[in-house]
Amino acid sequence: MTNQELFERAVRTAPGGVHSPVRAFKSVGGTPVFIASAQGPRITDVTGASYIDFCLSFGPLILGHADPIVAAEVHRAVDDGWTYGACEPYSLALAEWIIGRIPWVERIRFVSSGTEAVMSALRVARAATGRSRILKFEGCYHGHADGLLVRAGSGLAGAVAATSAGLPGDALSHTLVAPLDDEQAFDAVFNAHATDIAAVIIEPVPANYGLLPQRREWLTHIAAKCSEAGALLVLDEVITGFRSGLQGAAGAFDLRPDLVCYGKIIGGGFPVGAYAGRAELLDLVAPAGPVYQAGTLSANPVGMRAGLATLQRMAALDGWPALDARAAGFVRHLRERFAASAPSVHVDRHSSIMWIRKGGQAKCRRPDTIASAHGAWYPKFFHAALRRGVYLPPSAYEVLFLSMAHDDSTLAEAADVLVAAAEEADRT
Ligand code: PMP
Repeated sequence: MTNQELFERAVRTAPGGVHSPVRAFKSVGGTPVFIASAQGPRITDVTGASYIDFCLSFGPLILGHADPIVAAEVHRAVDDGWTYGACEPYSLALAEWIIGRIPWVERIRFVSSGTEAVMSALRVARAATGRSRILKFEGCYHGHADGLLVRAGSGLAGAVAATSAGLPGDALSHTLVAPLDDEQAFDAVFNAHATDIAAVIIEPVPANYGLLPQRREWLTHIAAKCSEAGALLVLDEVITGFRSGLQGAAGAFDLRPDLVCYGKIIGGGFPVGAYAGRAELLDLVAPAGPVYQAGTLSANPVGMRAGLATLQRMAALDGWPALDARAAGFVRHLRERFAASAPSVHVDRHSSIMWIRKGGQAKCRRPDTIASAHGAWYPKFFHAALRRGVYLPPSAYEVLFLSMAHDDSTLAEAADVLVAAAEEADRT
């Protein structure tokens, strides 16, 4: 069985052969590898080829693949029956663990994906404020709800254009878009609609258009504008939650969101999302309040137990500072070696999130500061790394993740591969 044979069958069964677009390798070219199994920092495809994995399922696996402690808890959870559609103690345990450690989380509601978390949080924001508009930033991704699949349109500041077919025009009419890292431009859009903005939503560390770390004073500015105008600050921590640190990017930047959205790590690699925040906001949600939101598999016990086991394990290992230090060392090493042999290649980092890019400004904080050369260079880099046994995210604008399972020897091996791959991509 080859990857090619499987992909030919897959395109006859699913759109583009996949169940989520980036997996199809469209933006890097070639045939996707079909993963048969994974362990620690490595994935193995159906032909037996093994790769050091920096994609890590796009973020949930902070302990690495198939962590034995999480696996044992998952086995116990399956033995106990995997869904009840009734009250159970597992979501309560996860909720209490989080509420006890994150002061701006007084109540939490578990859902099944990041998309659902964001969609629901924004519904709460609209209900709480009685306003309709949502302001988002160019270059941030918040899942695939209708009103959020937009980019900046031409014409008036804040105007939007759809980034997907199939959206009703009036779904977009409630969304405003402002550029990242620009107080003046944000103020112009915000002030023009201030009394009708229910929420400003941002990825505090945008990581869906490459990695675009933001200035703390800029994030603080956004928070201040929201509180001044009675708009809610919604932090989308689907990637950064329990990744930037136990308290996510809000903790790292000392921000106090009204509402926060989680996904990925919170479910330990199972389909879990959550939205959370102050009690009086979350208590607007049914059955406590009038905002309807429900889910057949919400707070699925396998995901709840995997999530809690993951977070407890990270806490027991003092994992967040350890992983941050390991990522810092790896990035320092890569930067030194790229400086010597592939000098226009940059490595950006926030905690254990990394991005390797060709050219552009020393610090990219907005999509329009990314060099156009990167898009043409990355497919060459990706395949040069893949041939040498390193699996990177299969898109120039997706970030790399590090896990606790990426030990020193794995990272040393990976660094050699990445340097050789960058040299090859620069040559060809
Ligand atoms: N928000 C952010 C910041 C994300 O990165 C993602 C997914 N990568 C989502 C929302 C949507 O999450 P999901 O794919 O679980 O629906």
